[in-house]
Amino acid sequence: MNVLVINAGSSSLKYQLFNMKTESILAKGLCDRIALDGHLKHTPANGKPVYDSDIPLPTHAEAISAVIDKLTSEDYGVIGDLSEINAVGHRAVHGGRKFFGSTLINDDVIATLEDYIRLAPLHIPANLMGIRACQSVMPNIPQVAVFDTSFHYTMPEYAYIYPIPYKYYELNDIRRYGFHGTSHRYVSAIAIEHLNLTGKESKVITCHLGNGSSLAAVRDGISIDTTMGVTPLEGLPMGTRAGSVDPSMADIIATTDGSSLKEAINILNKKSGVLGIYEKSSDFRDIELAAGVDGNTGFIDSSKEHDKRAMLALDIFCYHAAKYIGAYVVALGGLDAIVFTAGIGENSPYVRKAICDRLGGLDVCIDDQKNVGRVSGFRDVTGIGSKAKIFVIPTNEELVIARDTIELINK
Ligand code: ADP
Repeated sequence: MNVLVINAGSSSLKYQLFNMKTESILAKGLCDRIALDGHLKHTPANGKPVYDSDIPLPTHAEAISAVIDKLTSEDYGVIGDLSEINAVGHRAVHGGRKFFGSTLINDDVIATLEDYIRLAPLHIPANLMGIRACQSVMPNIPQVAVFDTSFHYTMPEYAYIYPIPYKYYELNDIRRYGFHGTSHRYVSAIAIEHLNLTGKESKVITCHLGNGSSLAAVRDGISIDTTMGVTPLEGLPMGTRAGSVDPSMADIIATTDGSSLKEAINILNKKSGVLGIYEKSSDFRDIELAAGVDGNTGFIDSSKEHDKRAMLALDIFCYHAAKYIGAYVVALGGLDAIVFTAGIGENSPYVRKAICDRLGGLDVCIDDQKNVGRVSGFRDVTGIGSKAKIFVIPTNEELVIARDTIELINK
């Protein structure tokens, strides 16, 4: 069984083709600049050459056709023909109040997603373009949607209902949804396995730290709270997003700049977070370098110049992450493990240490030596005497999507 996993953005489309017998990747790639000029990078895993070239991609459907062409071509291919793709799994950003699990895509699902564009106007149209493109190019192959929000569906009402007039929840589905659910689900399950607590009581905090960042409180394998909200803007400060700030901020920014509320929200989404503070980059590698951090050890190199704003941006990020961990220990009623994952969580010893060094009040500490460097795969970086484990676990959202897809089409 082979599953094609699709992650469609407004002008890009990432894909991975999985052989589900071995759960191995047969090929992966990225269609970029769709509807502009178009570029395709296709990487087969069978030793055939990488295709990396400009190619006209006027629509998502043409991008999917180009992907199928490469997957089945003599020079770059990994399968004989389309019949070797058994199903397509789509990453879908927002499942609203209806989709509490992954689902086979049919006309009703598409109609509901169209209605939910009001909840995620930037993301759902792109997901729909990816789904429609696959339907047109592969009409007889089952398609599955796997939602970023589903894992958090189990939050209790008091965690997901906002303290605003209740009618907005009733009439417009305004509630906390949370995102990165596929990642939180995947890494929390691995953590629970390593704790030998599968099927038993467990209390895990997962920290998905990437361009977009969120934390989740996971009790007995189930999400009971998460930092992102009705949109991904809430919660931690991120690369370019402000995270939770005084809601009056949008009005204050609009008044200060003489701009619209929409433009002010755009500033909170695209020009804030660590970029807003450091101003030169939102990339943690750049910010750490400017702050004098040794990227390999995570230690500050005192012989180097320290950019004060870069340091402040890192401090703000790590302080808020630690503060949410404290809050989630309360939500969980204890703590068995903290998990770090995604671009920053997996690769930045500095951020992991700077967060954990703030957790002394919880009797949690990291091992500075085990934390050093970049190692692929699962890592236990718990310090001696720590009351909870600290794990680094590479996330794999595509594999979860492929697994859910297979499970649904085999039902
Ligand atoms: P997303 O999927 O949300 O776009 P990723 O999970 O790929 O983001 O994470 C991207 C972030 O990870 C960037 O801020 C990048 O700087 C950071 N990152 C990647 N490698 C490192 C590293 N070695 N040290 C510090 N930060 C890193």
